[in-house]
Amino acid sequence: MASEDLFKKITAHAKEYGFIFPSSEIYDGLGAVYDYAQNGVELKNNIKNYWWDAMVKMNEEIVGLDSAIFMHPTVWKASGHLSAFNDPLIDNKDSKKRYRADVLIEDFRAKIEAKIDKEITKAKKRFGDSFDEEQFRATNQRVLANQKKIDELNKRFVAALESNDLEELKQIILDYDITDPVSGSRNWTDVRQFNLMFETKLGSVSEGANSIYLRPETAQGIFVNYLNVQKTGRMKLPFGIAQIGKAFRNEIVARQFIFRMREFEQMEMQFFVKPGEEMKWYEHWKETRIKWHKALGLGDEKYRFHDHDKLAHYANAAADIEFQFPFGFKELEGIHSRTDFDLSSHEKESGKKIRYYDNEAGESYVPYVVETSIGLDRMFLAVLSAAYSEETIKKDDGSTDSRVVLRIPPQLAPVKAAVLPLVRKDGLPEKAREIMNSLKFDFNCQYDEKDSIGKRYRRHDAIGTPFCLTIDHQTLEDNTVTLRYRDSMKQDRVPVDRLSEIIDGLVNFKNLLKKL
Ligand code: ATP
Repeated sequence: MASEDLFKKITAHAKEYGFIFPSSEIYDGLGAVYDYAQNGVELKNNIKNYWWDAMVKMNEEIVGLDSAIFMHPTVWKASGHLSAFNDPLIDNKDSKKRYRADVLIEDFRAKIEAKIDKEITKAKKRFGDSFDEEQFRATNQRVLANQKKIDELNKRFVAALESNDLEELKQIILDYDITDPVSGSRNWTDVRQFNLMFETKLGSVSEGANSIYLRPETAQGIFVNYLNVQKTGRMKLPFGIAQIGKAFRNEIVARQFIFRMREFEQMEMQFFVKPGEEMKWYEHWKETRIKWHKALGLGDEKYRFHDHDKLAHYANAAADIEFQFPFGFKELEGIHSRTDFDLSSHEKESGKKIRYYDNEAGESYVPYVVETSIGLDRMFLAVLSAAYSEETIKKDDGSTDSRVVLRIPPQLAPVKAAVLPLVRKDGLPEKAREIMNSLKFDFNCQYDEKDSIGKRYRRHDAIGTPFCLTIDHQTLEDNTVTLRYRDSMKQDRVPVDRLSEIIDGLVNFKNLLKKL
C-alpha cells in the first residue's frame, strides 16, 4: 500500500474506532489539536505506564515529579526560550494563510535556481558532449540575469536575518513580488518575530497582570526542582528525575496528524551526573532507550539512531531515535547531553546556588545532565501505525474474507478481553456478566452482546483486543468458554478458572520490563 494511503487509513481508523478525534469537532476542529477518545486514552495511559515503570519503578536512582505547566517567566529567559525559540512570521490578508517569511524567500530563491537548472538541462541536450557548463553559466544571458537576481537577493536576505531586520524581510518579499503559494495574492501583513511559546496572563489586568507562558518543554520543571528533590530525597549522583506532562508549542505549520501538535505530551527524564562522566551516561541512556522501544516488538528495523549534525549551543552530544512512520523515518525521541547549561543559567538568573556537594571529592559543583525526551503522542502514532494491518482470511468453506486488525502489543492494548455471550438469552448474559465481574479488577474488559459473534470479533480486532471470550450453552454446563486469540484467530476451550492466568500471561507489564 502506498505510504500516503496507509497514513490516511490509519488516521481514519483512529477516528472511526474511538482513538482520536479532532478537538472541538462540532466547530470544525482546531488546528493541530486533538482529543484522545475512549480507546485512545487507554492506549495512551498504557504507554505512559510502560515508560514510567521502566524509569521510576525499575531504577532506584530515578524518582518522579509532576511540576506545574505555569512557571515563573524568568525560567524561559534562563533556558533561552524567550530569545531563541522564534520564527519570522507573515500572514497573507487574502488567503488568511500564515507562513514563515524566511521559508517564503527560500522557496522563491529555489524557484530561480530551478530556472537556471532548466536552461542548463536544455543546453546539455542541445550541445551533447561538447557542452561546457561553466562557460554556459558565464555567458548565457538568461542564466546570468537569474544568477544576478539570486546573488542580490542572498546579500539582502542574509543581512536581514543576521540583523534581525523584519522590515527588510518584508521589503524583500515585496520587491521580488513573492506571492502566496495558495492564492497568488501579494496582500501581505508586516513580518513579526514569532515566538513558539504561548503567552497568557496571570492575575486580572487591574491587579497588574504578569505575562507568563505555557511551557514548551517539561524539562525546565525538572531543572528548577533539582535541588528540592536532591535534598528532600537525599539523592546521590548519579540520579534522575522523570516527568510526564503537557507541553505547548505554537507551531507555524503543524500537520501530519498527531506527529506535530500544538498541545502535546512529553515523557522526559533528566539524569544528573558528575561532570566528566556525561559521555558514559549518554551512551548508557542511548542503549537503554532503544531497548525499551525494541522490547515492544514493533520491528527492530523500524528504529534507527540519527546523530545531530549541528549541536545546540548547550549540548556536547545529541542523537535522535527515529522511527519509520508511514511518511518515513522521523524523530521519535531525543537523547541529549546538555552539560551544565540549564542548571548554571538558573543559578545565574535566580542568584541561588544550585550545586551538588560531593562527599568523596570534598567539593561542590553544578552537575551535568543527560536527558531522554520522548513525545507521548508520537509514541502513540508509532504504535498505531506499526499495529495497523489489513488481512485476507481464508474461511473453512474456501471463500475469503478480510479484516483490519490492530496488532498492538498486548500490554498496551486498550481493552484486554472482550466478554461475549453467544446469544442474548438462556442465562448466557448473566453468566457473561459474572465472568466480567471477576476479571474486571485486574483487566480492562468490555462486555458486548450486540450483533453476530463474527461481527463482534471484527470490532475487537479493529481496536486490538488480544482476547475474545465467548460464553455459550456449554459454559453453563462445564464452566468453560471459547477463548479466541486476536493475532492467530485460534480458538481454545478453556475453564473459566484459568482465564485470569492466561490473560495475565500476555498482558502483564512484567514480561516487557524483564526484557530491559
Ligand atoms: P522536531 O524537530 O520534530 O520539531 P524537536 O527537536 O523540536 O522536534 P524536542 O524539543 O527535542 O523536539 O522535543 C522532544 C520530543 O518531543 C520530540 O522527540 C518529539 O517526540 C516531541 N515533540 C516535539 N515537538 C512536538 C510537537 N509539536 N508535537 C508532538 N510531539 C512533539
